[in-house]
Amino acid sequence: AKQSGRGKVMVYTREMEEAAKRVTRIEQALRRAVAAGEVEPFFQPIVDLSTRQVVGFEALARWNDRDLGMVPPDVFIPIAEERGIIGQLSQLLLRQATEAACNWPDELFLSFNLSPSQLVDQNTARHILDILQRTGFDARRLEIEITETGLMTDPDSAEKIVGELRAVGIRVALDDFGTGQSSLGRLREFHFDKLKIDRAFVSSILEDKPSEHIIRAILAMCEGLGMDVVAEGIEEEEQAARLLQFGCAGGQGYMFGKPVNAAATMRYLRDHYRA
Ligand code: C2E
Ligand code: CA
Ligand code: CA
Ligand code: CA
Repeated sequence: AKQSGRGKVMVYTREMEEAAKRVTRIEQALRRAVAAGEVEPFFQPIVDLSTRQVVGFEALARWNDRDLGMVPPDVFIPIAEERGIIGQLSQLLLRQATEAACNWPDELFLSFNLSPSQLVDQNTARHILDILQRTGFDARRLEIEITETGLMTDPDSAEKIVGELRAVGIRVALDDFGTGQSSLGRLREFHFDKLKIDRAFVSSILEDKPSEHIIRAILAMCEGLGMDVVAEGIEEEEQAARLLQFGCAGGQGYMFGKPVNAAATMRYLRDHYRA
């Protein structure tokens, strides 16, 4: 038993070593790509479910590395966080995203994701405000998306940064609501302008009653607290219809458009936006 136990430990260690090497390879390639400005934001439409009109776009990072090929954000964002590259990466993305958004109609907002570690870094707010000043993008058209994890690492620090952003008119959305360590208490302590209902509930809304009840409860709560709502991951007409029927005002998902680059976003607006 001892032998096999030791064997297992050996194999495990080997696997961990391989994984660590892979992470380091991605880290090095990412450092190079960020320095060369090769990571770019794509944009996914967010719509008003009653009119189907686009009201804003969420920026989503895309990295097509010359050696590694397409690396998904679910892979490189956590590595950027862990290895201390996220601040630099995020600034590169926000600069490009606000530059692109300056070409959109004034009514449309830009939504931008912040990582948990950025809510611990006291330079985050200053970096964001610097970029807004340089690109001339109106702070009131910017929304930042944060998760509960981001608020929990160091709540005082997160509160300070969020406060500095809200002071200039930047709106704050709670992302992925309903997953992870969701705590309703958080909604009392922090004031969010918007709540994004996680795709997990939306994808099962037609199949099971519990999801329907949960979504209806979230919508009632948002109404009471005066928060806007966006349901994520809408892929089918029936989901959109059901959400609208429950009183959900905002929607996002492949049904309305997949994330596309800045140029394709301009074409999307020409085809879909009526002033
Ligand atoms: P997220 O913020 O929850 O973003 C939504 C994700 O759902 C995106 O994946 C989007 O492409 C995908 N999605 C949208 N509509 C649908 C749909 O109808 N069906 C399905 N199956 N998926 C849909 P993506 O672009 O791969 O990003 C994954 C995650 O990576 C994001 O989740 C976010 O947590 C992170 N991320 C992406 N870009 C950035 C960034 O610039 N900064 C930071 N900090 N995180 C980012
Ligand atoms: Ca998001
Ligand atoms: Ca989300
Ligand atoms: Ca997510």
